[in-house]
Amino acid sequence: MHDHRRLGRELGLFDTAPLIGAGLPYWLPDGAAVRHALEEYLHAAERRAGYRHVYSPVLGKRELYELSGHWSHYSDDMFPPMELGGEQVVLRPSLCPHHAVIYRSRAHSYRELPLRMAELGGMYRSEPSGVLGGLTRVRAIHLNDAHVFCTLDQVADEVRAALEMIRRAYEALGLTPARYRLSLPGTGGKYVADPEKWQRSTALLAEALDRSGLAYEAAEGEAAFYGPKIDVQVADSAGRESTLSTVQVDLHQPERFDLRYTGADGARHRPVMVHRSIVGSVERAVAHLVERHGGAFPVWLAPTQVAVLPVSDAQVPQAAALARRCDERGLRADVVGPERGSLGARVREARLVPYQAVIGAREAADGHVALRLRDGRRPAPLPADDALARVSALVAAHSPRLWDDDAL
Ligand SMILES: [Zn+2]
Repeated sequence: MHDHRRLGRELGLFDTAPLIGAGLPYWLPDGAAVRHALEEYLHAAERRAGYRHVYSPVLGKRELYELSGHWSHYSDDMFPPMELGGEQVVLRPSLCPHHAVIYRSRAHSYRELPLRMAELGGMYRSEPSGVLGGLTRVRAIHLNDAHVFCTLDQVADEVRAALEMIRRAYEALGLTPARYRLSLPGTGGKYVADPEKWQRSTALLAEALDRSGLAYEAAEGEAAFYGPKIDVQVADSAGRESTLSTVQVDLHQPERFDLRYTGADGARHRPVMVHRSIVGSVERAVAHLVERHGGAFPVWLAPTQVAVLPVSDAQVPQAAALARRCDERGLRADVVGPERGSLGARVREARLVPYQAVIGAREAADGHVALRLRDGRRPAPLPADDALARVSALVAAHSPRLWDDDAL
């Protein structure tokens, strides 16, 4: 395991600047490429699972967070409000209140449930200066978030489906959970007081974990203020745990926002809100990926997927042509030419890139490509289109593998 802050700077993924501010990282092109690939994966997985995406603003009126309960239970973590035309607006501490308002803006029938609303959106946390660092403790957060509005009978299936999405994402990302945690309320006034709701939500989450066959540990004092949650914990390079993914059952906010649907009986009923995040924030997810893989990302996430290395100036045109063919297939390629040093030095420089295509006089003449894989393997030379088709197939499948000998 590696320190994501050091590697992030060395690999040119992200950085911070005193003039922008502590806890407000910016993403360099290679880091942005990783993040974009991750976001595309999440968007497609959510579409397949029946989610529809929305956009909502990163600000809201103070009254919105008073209604959600954030103002009374979570204000220590919120930025101070801004005065604007006699009103107060706040940088949002979470997306949930906006999604509840979007749900409430239309009438809903039981036939529309489960209604799955997703957004990868910004939110803000007033972390103290002393704890800020890298991508793990930040003040501006971009959360892979979603809310499922459903009936009480549908909750268990929705929680299990979310756990399955998390399992598949971890497989594609090459991640292993440290453990599953059932996070329960602790003592003190941090949590909304309604013992009967807490018991029902906790029983639903425990049932979903049991039926998914997942071992877990219960932890008091780790719940959200409005309900219990399943947290998928990962460990960093120093063995410290943090939460990436989470699934929560919320009987509180639907009541605060007076959410309704019309049942088969024609009467109005209260839906449940299931909050879920497959990978948490993109900041924390990419930090963990950097540490887990030491910069050697799975092919589909790698900032550069193919490094094209012409042996001498004479092969630069063929190298550029191969890079263009990569572009046409949506593969991220980079020509690393002789002006950047000896072939040996360039091979070492590109050691984290999944595929190196060395173009010498013979490859330039016959149009074949001899790929060198990051793990040292050297498959037999193939016509360029065949070689790139194999790489494209692995990328499209979000495969954790570097090469499939049986493919095609
Ligand atoms: Zn939420």
